[in-house]
Amino acid sequence: MALKSSEAITLRTYPFREADRIAVFFSRGYGKIRGIARGARLLKSHFGSTLEPMSYLRVIFFERENQELAVINSCDLLESHAAHRNTLEGSYYCAYVAELLSEFTQEGEVNEKLFRLTLAVLDPNLRLEWEMRARYLETWLLRLEGVFPPLQQCGRCGRALRAGAVYIDGGGQEALCRDCGGSGRLSLDADQHQLVREIFSRKIGAVPWGQWSRQALKNLGKLNSKLIQYHLEKPLKTGRFLKELNQC
Ligand SMILES: [Zn+2]
Repeated sequence: MALKSSEAITLRTYPFREADRIAVFFSRGYGKIRGIARGARLLKSHFGSTLEPMSYLRVIFFERENQELAVINSCDLLESHAAHRNTLEGSYYCAYVAELLSEFTQEGEVNEKLFRLTLAVLDPNLRLEWEMRARYLETWLLRLEGVFPPLQQCGRCGRALRAGAVYIDGGGQEALCRDCGGSGRLSLDADQHQLVREIFSRKIGAVPWGQWSRQALKNLGKLNSKLIQYHLEKPLKTGRFLKELNQC
């Protein structure tokens, strides 16, 4: 059986049999990977902290014929991202990002842009709060999936879209002007419109985040969460935790 190797990000694990875990990764070379990490539940496991959510690593694995699960041979840590999990807020957001990635990636489907986006959002050298990292990831993820439409011109009449008068349908895809859009659609206020345009035109570290109030960030989060729910046809499980956290 040929060993395969890829950079990957750990999404989650769950116990399997007495000593093993099933690990789910988002890999650069193979899309989502689900595999058995043998002995990972033992105290002295050679997997160490590589199976913590959001660890960036090199995974070596092999696939078995007619078996759903791969076998994880070894994992070498490239960046632990442990600092992200140090606080309650950070661990909630890590779980949220893991669920987002898990829902939007498929086994065997490479998604290089999403992989690079994820690494950029997790960059430990960025001095950015989680709320901003999450908005950047969600908005771009929805864009890459074709859900969040470009906001330059109306999808029906072609006129340039003016801030404060933009509507998008529940499934995304089309941004409409005031004349073509209107009731029953999601609307973007001027803040959301401007913020989304900044997100689409800059790297995460270059977006002038300080120009937006916390409320504006939350409003974009609400819009994104509606689009995510519409696209997946269900709400995210971790969305509830974040809502509670934001009410504290
Ligand atoms: Zn129009």
